[in-house]
Amino acid sequence: MAQEGNGTASRCSSRNSDNENRWSLQGMNALVTGGTKGIGRAIVEELAGLGATVYTCSRNEAELNECLKDWKSKGFHVAGSTCDVSSRLEREKLMLTVSSLFDSKLNILINNAGTLGTNSGKPTVDYTAEDFSFIMTTNFESAYHLSQLAHPFLKASGTGSIVFLSSVCGVVSLSVGSIYAATKGAMNQLTKNLACEWAKDNIRSNSVAPYFIYSPLTGPLLGNEEFHEEAVARTPLGRIGEPKEVSSLVAFLCLPAASYITGQTICVDGGFTVNGFSFPRA
Ligand code: NAP
Repeated sequence: MAQEGNGTASRCSSRNSDNENRWSLQGMNALVTGGTKGIGRAIVEELAGLGATVYTCSRNEAELNECLKDWKSKGFHVAGSTCDVSSRLEREKLMLTVSSLFDSKLNILINNAGTLGTNSGKPTVDYTAEDFSFIMTTNFESAYHLSQLAHPFLKASGTGSIVFLSSVCGVVSLSVGSIYAATKGAMNQLTKNLACEWAKDNIRSNSVAPYFIYSPLTGPLLGNEEFHEEAVARTPLGRIGEPKEVSSLVAFLCLPAASYITGQTICVDGGFTVNGFSFPRA
């Protein structure tokens, strides 16, 4: 009996020390693709604010350097380099840099960089082979390949977490283009496969699926007053989202507090995807 009591006590004390770290990313490192604008930038700041050391990339060097300067002035530990994630070679180079910087261990991979392509939302019959290849490579192939490349380092960290920036258009139909939507649907399925396949390596995999969020990506769409009004009218919360409202969920999924959550696609959408028919419109 005494022994059982001791066991319980030691389990309790280990749980207490776990509790102290459940809401912190202190001591962890992260790679966030596309961290200089919109949602990616908010994610870099959210993870760094919770104590993580972050590495990020984007294509525009001047913008990246501006961001790095800003983060340094805020006391965040963020490094970065230019990388076009649509290039296989550049992805390999990126992962080499990251693994050498982080001593071959990576706790967090955020596959955020993405594109709507040019003239988003055009009819399926009008898309060219170049459109298809550009959107698929940037959004899906990059995330797939970076996850493959990161696998040994996520495993070596002991607590790996991958988050894919998907979209509600990977869950329901939205007029932003069928190729873009297909890349996000593919991410949602990949999330489930990796969650099961890599659970043995203690790597979790989840997708965050936003509805319309103010960012440079959606600027042209939401700049259209009629489009903006329609998007708001279909959202129970009655407004467009902010990048910080997405980055908070991304960060949560990376925390030890989320250690039993894997294989999920979670919408950040002001209620859009649960909105059925309501009359009169609220
Ligand atoms: P954004 O404002 O366009 O920012 C994209 C970021 O990714 C920038 O830092 C950009 O920098 C970088 N990037 C783009 N293409 C890249 C490439 N080929 N290689 C490396 N970096 C690249 O986009 P966002 O709105 O923040 O969206 C972020 C993610 O959320 C995307 O995957 C998007 O599909 C998804 N999402 C967004 C919304 C929304 O309403 N905003 C909704 C659903 C899903 P450079 O241009 O300098 O490379």
